Amino acid sequence: MNTETQDAVRKDWDTYFMDIAYMVSTRSRCPRRHVGSVLVQGKKLLGTAYNGAPMGVQDCLEAGCMIAEEVEMKLVDGIEQLFKKQRCIRTIHAEQNLLLFTDRADREGSTVYVTDQPCWTCANMLANSGVVEVVYHRSYPKDSEKVIRLMKQKGIQFRCLDQFEPPAQAYMDVTT
Ligand SMILES: [Zn+2]
Ligand SMILES: [Zn+2]
Repeated sequence: MNTETQDAVRKDWDTYFMDIAYMVSTRSRCPRRHVGSVLVQGKKLLGTAYNGAPMGVQDCLEAGCMIAEEVEMKLVDGIEQLFKKQRCIRTIHAEQNLLLFTDRADREGSTVYVTDQPCWTCANMLANSGVVEVVYHRSYPKDSEKVIRLMKQKGIQFRCLDQFEPPAQAYMDVTT
């Protein structure tokens, strides 16, 4: 193989770490959403996590998802409107597990790759976690606006890898 061909075949770092985040997400046992996240400092992988119930208690496949309905007020064209949303609250989100299983010192100045755009709660925690960059693939429109605003306020780089193609082995059929 010549150098040019090798460069074409070789994955860039964004693709490399997002691939890993997707492979990690296949460990999730919530049928509604499979999310994986990894912590990267420099080019070093310092942690991996996926969404799931706490260790040793029944998970979504054993006990079913725990669905909660939330109502949120949003301004649409200056008029207050109520929006309902459903979430599975049995799981600890991938980003939250990542923060539970990594050290503060490792997070300072680091990057989080996550398969899905963080929800508001995860974004809020990431904003206080020491990470300086969050890279995601699938968007999560429910919280997107306020999450983007928060990241901007905190000066955290927030990037979507919209050209990314998840690895075939990580494909999972999820109910939305
Ligand atoms: Zn669930
Ligand atoms: Zn979340």
